[in-house]
Amino acid sequence: MIIVPEAAIANLVTPEASFAAVEKVFASMAAKSAYNFPVIREAIGHADALYGFKSGFDRAALNLGLKSGGYWPGNADKGLTNHQSTVFLFDADTGRCRAVVGGNLLTALRTAAAAAVSVAHLARRDAKVLGIVGAGHQAAFQLRAVAAQRPFERVVAWNRSPEKLSGLREVAEGLGLAFETVSLDDLGAQADVIVTITSSFDAILGADQVRPGTHLACMGTDTKGKQEVDAALLGRATVFTDEIAQSTTIGEAQHAIADLTLRLEDIVELGAVINGDHPGRSSDDEITLFDGTGVGLQDLAVAAAVVDLAVERGVATEVEF
Ligand code: NAD
Repeated sequence: MIIVPEAAIANLVTPEASFAAVEKVFASMAAKSAYNFPVIREAIGHADALYGFKSGFDRAALNLGLKSGGYWPGNADKGLTNHQSTVFLFDADTGRCRAVVGGNLLTALRTAAAAAVSVAHLARRDAKVLGIVGAGHQAAFQLRAVAAQRPFERVVAWNRSPEKLSGLREVAEGLGLAFETVSLDDLGAQADVIVTITSSFDAILGADQVRPGTHLACMGTDTKGKQEVDAALLGRATVFTDEIAQSTTIGEAQHAIADLTLRLEDIVELGAVINGDHPGRSSDDEITLFDGTGVGLQDLAVAAAVVDLAVERGVATEVEF
């Protein structure tokens, strides 16, 4: 069994490798050669923790396994990250444990890669202004991965506490992009691509604040009750997602489906666009919206890429199991 500890991940995986792994598994999901198992997430009644599993099987890549983890709010006081996760990969032929891989950095990279894949396939080619809503742990990963997909010149950003945007400014300026803190009205009026990455339980961005031709990657809503954009925006947009079952239960679409502003049959899996089975954006005026809920197969895909690279570079730790 191969062990790749959290500390080794940063040297083994790049945003480009994460993009390739996530794009491939989205395509595999839409082709029905990969599927996610039902998600488990429970409040365990200890340390205020939420704990669960995301798992699945990619028959094409032979990635079988799960990401185990959750949220421990008291961790920060212990010098640890509140979100903790570990990926377990199993040999699809024998069921033996093949690898244990630190999942914290991988979660951020695979989430950012999903937004980047959506931008690569759905945003207008001439997109110049990138809007970011949110300034938490994930936001900088999102900015780096998405900025690489189009010839962006400028970043406009909004956060509930604007002073927390200084970290994003540093990342944007490090990428050679101008950076401006703006109101939500100005963000919607200027951005060609918008990434939302907050923990909000109420719509932040209104349907009328987004102009025609915008692509949105809504990445924060991954739980029942969370919401980042007005449900009416999903009615105006063509809606794409990683997995329809998650989109309608724990993603942005949960609200639009409940309000009858969106029909289930109108939600498209991003993998169908990657596979060429759906044309994607149909005009420069269309609003496209990716409801990125985060699936277990993304975690398995990036973890498997890390294991391959660790073996190739001779840095994998192998133990008898
Ligand atoms: P974080 O705690 O570091 O940051 C939270 C961000 O949300 C901050 O910018 C905060 O200002 C903002 N926020 C919180 N409540 C808000 C409200 N009511 N209105 C406006 N803004 C609000 O969190 P993070 O690690 O950056 O994660 C952000 C979100 O992304 C979380 O909801 C997390 O569950 C989700 N997430 C999704 C995926 C996925 O695959 N889709 C993966 C990882 C994390």
